[in-house]
Amino acid sequence: MAPLGGHSRLTEPLKDAVGTRTANALATLGLETVGDLLEHYPRRYAEPGRQLAIEHLTVGEHVSVFGTVIKAEIKQNSNGGFRLQAQITDGTSILNLTFFGKYQKSLAWRLAGLHEGAIGVFSGTVNVFQNQFQLTHPVYALVGGKSGDAQDIRLEATKPIPIYPANAKVPTWVIQNAIKPILETLSETDVPDPLPVELRNKYGNGMTKLEAFLQLHHPNNEAEWRRAQKRLRFEEAFLLQVALGLRRLAAQANPTTARPLQKDNTLLAQFDAALPFTLTKGQREVGDDIAAELATTIPMQRLLIGEVGSGKTVVALRAMLQVIDAGGQCVLLAPTEVLAQQHARSITKILGKLAKSDILTEPPVKVALLTGSTSTAERKDILLNTLTGNVKILVGTHALLEDKVKFADLGLIVVDEQHRFGVEQREKLKTKGIFPNLLVMTATPIPRTIAMTVFGDLDTSQLTDLPPGRQPIQTTLVPEYNPKWMARTWERIKEEVAKGHRAFVVCPRIEDTSENEQRILHNVTEVFEFLQNVPALQGLEIEALHGQMKPAEKDAIMQRFAKGDTQILVSTTVIEVGVDIPEATVMAIFDADLFGMSQLHQLRGRIGRGEAPGLCLLITKAEPGTIGAQRVQLVAQNSDGFAIANEDLNLRAEGDVLGANQAGRSSSLQLLRVTEHGQIIENAREAASELLELDPTLQMHDTLALAISTLDSEQKEFLGKA
Ligand code: ADP
Ligand code: MG
Repeated sequence: MAPLGGHSRLTEPLKDAVGTRTANALATLGLETVGDLLEHYPRRYAEPGRQLAIEHLTVGEHVSVFGTVIKAEIKQNSNGGFRLQAQITDGTSILNLTFFGKYQKSLAWRLAGLHEGAIGVFSGTVNVFQNQFQLTHPVYALVGGKSGDAQDIRLEATKPIPIYPANAKVPTWVIQNAIKPILETLSETDVPDPLPVELRNKYGNGMTKLEAFLQLHHPNNEAEWRRAQKRLRFEEAFLLQVALGLRRLAAQANPTTARPLQKDNTLLAQFDAALPFTLTKGQREVGDDIAAELATTIPMQRLLIGEVGSGKTVVALRAMLQVIDAGGQCVLLAPTEVLAQQHARSITKILGKLAKSDILTEPPVKVALLTGSTSTAERKDILLNTLTGNVKILVGTHALLEDKVKFADLGLIVVDEQHRFGVEQREKLKTKGIFPNLLVMTATPIPRTIAMTVFGDLDTSQLTDLPPGRQPIQTTLVPEYNPKWMARTWERIKEEVAKGHRAFVVCPRIEDTSENEQRILHNVTEVFEFLQNVPALQGLEIEALHGQMKPAEKDAIMQRFAKGDTQILVSTTVIEVGVDIPEATVMAIFDADLFGMSQLHQLRGRIGRGEAPGLCLLITKAEPGTIGAQRVQLVAQNSDGFAIANEDLNLRAEGDVLGANQAGRSSSLQLLRVTEHGQIIENAREAASELLELDPTLQMHDTLALAISTLDSEQKEFLGKA
C-alpha cells in the first residue's frame, strides 16, 4: 500500500496547489487537500442556455449572455434591503443584472467578483425593468479574467457550468477556478482508482477516476457529467458495500458455540406442541434458516424484517429456545420500558408452564425483566441469577448494557425494533458472551435497498405473510374542521367499546407547547379533559399515557387498558412500537399529517390484532393539496408497509424515514441516494461480495483497501450508526 499513501497528489495540501489565500478560503468549506477539492462535487449544472447577443433577447426566454462587466454597485432599497446592480455589455448592447440581498455584506462578495472588466457567461430568464432588459439573480461563471483569448472564452461559454456547494467566502466560481488548473496537471498515476478494471468497465462507463473527475468538473456537455456522475456514484456505493462486507466478515471471523437442535422432549418441542396456532409459512422458513445458522460455529448476524403483526416475536422465541436447549442464555433488548415490560409479560404468557415456577423449583425457562426502574433488591437478584445461568431469557432496556450485567453463557442476542439502537449497543451486548449470535428485528418496513445500506452488515430475512385471520384495518380521513365528522368519530369509538373493544386516541404532544410553535398541536392533557365531556363517551373509563410518566405508572395504565378496566387510552406515540392488545380495534390520531407515513402505519398496527376488524381515523387539519394531506391520503389508501415506506421516501429525505437518530446520515453520501439508486446499490453489493469472496482481506486490491481505510469520518459515522 505504501506507494499510494504518502505521495499521491491527492493528499497534497491545497495551499501548495492553489496558494494560501484560496486555500484559506477553501478551508472554510472543510477542504484541506487536493483530493478534498476534487471530491467536492458540483451540486448541479447550469446549462449554458442559448447563447445570444443582447440585442436579440426576448422576454421570458432562458438565455446565456457572454459579456464584460462595465460597472457594478450596491444600492439600498426603499424597504431597507440592498441590491447589487451591474451592467454588462457584449460589445453592442447593454444588459442589466440585479441581485437582491438582505444586508450589504451579503452582496459584497459578488461585487468583488463582478469588478469592471470581468468577463463571464450570465444565464437566466430575461425580464424587463424600467424599459431595459434585465436578468435577476442570473447564474454566472466568470471565465479567465481580464486577459485571455476571446475565442477560448466563447468556447467555454458553450459548456455546462458546474455549480458547487459554496458559501459567502467561497463562491462557486472560485471553486471552479481552483479545480481547473489542478485537473490539467494530473496524470492517471496521481489519481489512484479504487474500482477494479472489470467493475469500471461493467458499471463505470469504462472511465478511470481521473477521467471521471475531468468530466464531472469540466464537462464539455451534459452527457459527460452524467456519465461521470454515474461512475462516481457506483464507486460510492461500492466502497460502502465493501466496508459493510468487511464488517460482516469480521463479525463472522471468530467462532461461537454451536447450538444445534437437541433431540427428545426439548423445550422447543414442548413449546411448539403447546402453541395455540400454527406457524405461518414464513415463520417456518425463517425459523429453519435461523435454526441452521445457530447450529454452526459461525455467529449469526441476521436482520428479520416483518410487517407489523407478522409474528416476529414467536420466531425469536423459538430461536431462543433452541439456544436454551443447547445450554445457552438469551437476552432481548427493547427500545422502551413499555415494550420491554410487554415483551417480558407476553413471552412469559406464551411460554405457559415452561416459564412457571413454584415454590420449590425453578421453571425450565426463567424469564427476567431488567430496566432502569427495577428495584435494587430485585436487580441484585436478577444479576446474580443471570451470572449463574439460572435466568434463561433476560429482557430489558438499555439497563442491559451496563457492565454489571454478566452471563454464564450468552448464546443469542435479540434486538427488537432495531432502528432505535446504534451499532455500539449491539457491540456492547456482544462482549457479554463469546461472539454470540445476533438477531435484529424491525417492524419499520425498510425498502430493500435501505436495508442493504443501513443494515448492510447483516443478512436479511423477511416475513412476508401475516398470520391467517388477521383483520383488515380500515383507514379513514377525518377533516377536523368538520364537526359532523368529529362527532361521528366519538360515536364510532363508543360503538366499538360497546362491543367490548378498546380505543386509542393519539396526540403528538404531551401538553400545550403552542407558545413555541407555529401551529397549535393537540396534546394528551387537553384531549384527555376534552374527551371526559364528549356526550358520546359518558360513562366510559378514559386514561392518559405518555413517555414522561414513571415506568411503573405506565405499566399499570397499560395493564388496566389490556384488562378492559379502561376502555379509552389517550396517548402519545409511546404506544407506537410493539404494543399488543388484541381487543384494541379503533384508533383516532390527531394531527395525523404531522406524523411520518411509516409512523402512522406503525401506529395503526396496534389495532386489528385480534378477531375484530380495525378502524383507524386520521384526524387532520391539512388543506387538500398540501404534502401533509397527500401523506395521510397515501396511508389511508395503502395497507402495505413497504409500499408506504417507498411513498414516504419519495416525499421525504431518507433520514427521516428511519427516525430522528438517523437524520442527516444521508448527507455523508455525495452522489448516492438510497431512495433513487436501488439498482446501483444492488449491483454494488453483488460486486462487493464477489470481490470479498475471492479476496477477503483486500490483499490483491491495494487501492481499494486504502480507499476503505480513508473513507471520510462522516461516512464512517454513517456506517457506525447502522
Ligand atoms: P410483530 O411482528 O409485530 O412483533 P408479534 O410477534 O407481536 O408481531 O405478533 C402479533 C400477534 O400475532 C401476537 O399476538 C402473536 O401471538 C400472534 N401470532 C404470531 N404468529 C401467529 C400465527 N402463526 N398465527 C396466529 N397468530 C400468530
Ligand atoms: Mg414486535
